[in-house]
Amino acid sequence: MKFGGTSVGTPQRMKDVAALVTKSGQPVFVVLSAMSGTTNSLVEISDYLYKKNPDGAHEVINMLERKYMRHVSELLESDESRRQTTEFLKEEFNYLRSFTKELFTSFEEKSIVAQGEIMSTNMMVNYMKEQGINAVLLNALDFMRTDKNAEPDPIYIKQKLAAILEGYAQGEEQPQVYVTQGFICRNAYGEVDNLLRGGSDYTASLIGAAIGAEEIQIWTDIDGMHNNDPRIVDNTQPVHQLQFEEAAELAYFGAKILHPTCVQPAKYAGIPVRLLNTMQPDAEGTTISNTTEYGKIKAVAAKDNITAIKIKSSRMLLATGFLRKVFEIFESYQTPIDMVCTSEVGVSMSIDNSSHLGEIMDELKKYGTVTVDTGMCIICVVGDLDWSNIGFETRVMDAMKEVPVRMISYGGSNYNISFLIREEDKRRALQSLSDNLFA
Ligand code: ADP
Ligand code: ASP
Ligand code: MG
Repeated sequence: MKFGGTSVGTPQRMKDVAALVTKSGQPVFVVLSAMSGTTNSLVEISDYLYKKNPDGAHEVINMLERKYMRHVSELLESDESRRQTTEFLKEEFNYLRSFTKELFTSFEEKSIVAQGEIMSTNMMVNYMKEQGINAVLLNALDFMRTDKNAEPDPIYIKQKLAAILEGYAQGEEQPQVYVTQGFICRNAYGEVDNLLRGGSDYTASLIGAAIGAEEIQIWTDIDGMHNNDPRIVDNTQPVHQLQFEEAAELAYFGAKILHPTCVQPAKYAGIPVRLLNTMQPDAEGTTISNTTEYGKIKAVAAKDNITAIKIKSSRMLLATGFLRKVFEIFESYQTPIDMVCTSEVGVSMSIDNSSHLGEIMDELKKYGTVTVDTGMCIICVVGDLDWSNIGFETRVMDAMKEVPVRMISYGGSNYNISFLIREEDKRRALQSLSDNLFA
């Protein structure tokens, strides 16, 4: 069971989580995010330190410390657990203050942003113990590890975790709840690192796969994956069933409820993932599994900050190896391509990381005329869109008829059809898709 930032965002929410995890009476592995807003504050502290502004950093640290100190008396009852937790948090904030004197690099930043999950899990376990729950705190830095390509190392994670759990299994009384930090890990060199923003979902599915969990539950502040972005569109509805690939497409193309890489470990281990609402624990939510619902369009998502690049070349006509040369340029700048559309005279591609755009353009110009459109957005329609199912293209196109479309991509998978449009048209495109496909 993984609980996100809002699910542990206040002392009352933490108490609700403790009640939820012990409800079934079965042993459960719990992954927690930092309390909502904390990781953002830790990033803000790091930004001040990069800019050599220790006063700015201190101000945020002091504000955060006052907030956490208020939580202690709301969360805990006994003097002893209050004292212990206060002492622990004081050490944490002094640790954060210690950075303001030193050289600041991404290594220090990673140690700082790791503290949110370290604090939330410590507070939760102290509360559970006070409530008489047999809970143990496992340090994710002891078993979550990434390899030299910054990818999680599932074999290492599985072996380490098995050894740790075996140690507890041999004890006299079996723990009811194992609690650990989401998001944080060590890299191949043993340094503190993380699985990128929103990465606690990824921690949960990696652990679920490593321990062979019955299911992986992602508890958040909404009743499952909705059929469109609820922050933008009115009247969105939860989707109760998603295939692994459908969920992965939606997460990758902007459905913030799920971290894009989270689906993979669960899919390989064949473990269903359920998206559930901490505020409404009885709501059905979304189950992600191997089941495909025939011919059904499930949901729409949007991904911003996309750049489209077109290269036109008369030499492309009948030239073997042209695409390889073009793609190699992107590869050499570690820039992944999302969408690709080709014609006889040119190719259009979309990227979401434009940090090497200048260099890429300079190299592409050797092969033809290059044009760039920035401020674009990918709209992705997801469902069982196998090419033999007829009619869905027409329905989707019809919903997009008022929107200028720069690129269309279909046929790469059986699960999506994507459009590249201007960011300013995103809202009306999403609304129109909802009105036409789901109303
Ligand atoms: P957590 O902190 O629990 O990880 P997140 O903020 O990462 O929660 O994800 C939940 C949020 O994702 C929701 O509050 C919602 O605003 C947003 N969201 C975006 N797209 C969708 C979608 N298609 N379905 C459900 N929620 C979505
Ligand atoms: N706390 C981290 C973040 O805010 C990880 C997570 O919540 O999943 O990005
Ligand atoms: Mg999240």
